[in-house]
Amino acid sequence: MITFQYARANSVAEAVHLVGRDQNAKLIAGGTNLIDLMKMDVEQPTTVIDITRLPLKQVEGTPGGGLRIGALVRNTDLAYHPLVEQRYPMLASAIMAGASQQLRNMASTGGNLLQRTRCHYFYDTATACNKREPGSGCSAIDGHNRMHAILGASEACIAVHPSDMCVALAVLEAKVHVSGASGDRVIAFADFHRLPGDTPQHDTNLNTGEIIIAVELPPQGFARHYTYLKIRDRLSYAFALVSVAVGLELDGDVIKEGRFALGGVAHKPWRDPQAEAALAGQPANTATFARAADVLLRGAKGYVHNTFKIDLARRCIARALTQAALGTPQSQSSKKII
Ligand SMILES: Cc1cc2nc3c(=O)[nH]c(=O)nc-3n(C[C@H](O)[C@H](O)[C@H](O)COP(=O)(O)OP(=O)(O)OC[C@H]3O[C@@H](n4cnc5c(N)ncnc54)[C@H](O)[C@@H]3O)c2cc1C
Ligand code: SF4
Repeated sequence: MITFQYARANSVAEAVHLVGRDQNAKLIAGGTNLIDLMKMDVEQPTTVIDITRLPLKQVEGTPGGGLRIGALVRNTDLAYHPLVEQRYPMLASAIMAGASQQLRNMASTGGNLLQRTRCHYFYDTATACNKREPGSGCSAIDGHNRMHAILGASEACIAVHPSDMCVALAVLEAKVHVSGASGDRVIAFADFHRLPGDTPQHDTNLNTGEIIIAVELPPQGFARHYTYLKIRDRLSYAFALVSVAVGLELDGDVIKEGRFALGGVAHKPWRDPQAEAALAGQPANTATFARAADVLLRGAKGYVHNTFKIDLARRCIARALTQAALGTPQSQSSKKII
């Protein structure tokens, strides 16, 4: 039994103060990841700071036509929010593809961004893991690595970020609002999560003691042409082997703007400007989609058990882009993609 202090923050300023005075403190929101990590001795906080009473539970429109989502908005409340369903259905769809109903009822927006990897070795304190214990080695590289990265990995870590919601947020180019001892700042979503490099213990570019207070979505929601496709070992309650979020803006059959990101393949949601450039101005057809997939996967590298993911990702990209091009609802589309 490991003892820890419990503290409750009643304001963002108080939470920042509490977390700033104890290097080993951890914030708790829904607790769906932190409690598991504490039970398995992976996280051993000296203080657990309960932030569930903070006034960060609103979803509201921004003056610029976007949406501001408080860090404590539950995954379920976000997915079913009318503004999200109407204007950002890709986000609703990605959230609903994650975890289970009970977990989504508890899990918060901020917690989802900061959930840790699901690499089995990270959870098993009897094994070497550079993310859990820097310098100890990586058991996955020569171990069981079926769920692991094919893009952006390093010799220190080949883990993937497990979130579904974050893949959609990457395509939507969300911004993360944070608050810390030296004030507030905004982090572009592309810069929020990091690649492992030689410091895989750091999942994000959040500074020590900073708290997520909100996630902001720009107005562009791709509500007509979107898809979130998730391939996993069973139909629900499983993490992605590969997932793809797509947002397209079409002018007739020509792609004006195309964005797509992959989940389950890297230490962060994976977007590639060159792959998206291969879509812009091109006809929405299978040849264009296959080319974009090839560009995105040009640097992909598999390990003993996960090489299948490269081909799986290629097919998922083509299928997700096709689905998005067909429009919404896809079942009523009279279009054909050739
Ligand atoms: C069995 C299982 C299956 C799952 N399947 C999926 C899945 O398929 N797809 C998916 O996307 N997710 C999945 N999840 C993960 C789940 O979505 C996350 O656990 C959840 O989103 C975390 O949110 P939380 O509020 O419970 O975070 P917590 O557990 O409370 O916190 C997680 C981390 O975030 C930090 N934190 C929380 N809020 C803030 C904040 N505002 N500012 C700074 N730090 C903060 C905490 O200190 C902690 O380090 C699964 C989880 C489980 C247990
Ligand atoms: S892949 Fe990363 S998280 Fe998994 S064992 Fe290696 S260092 Fe640890």
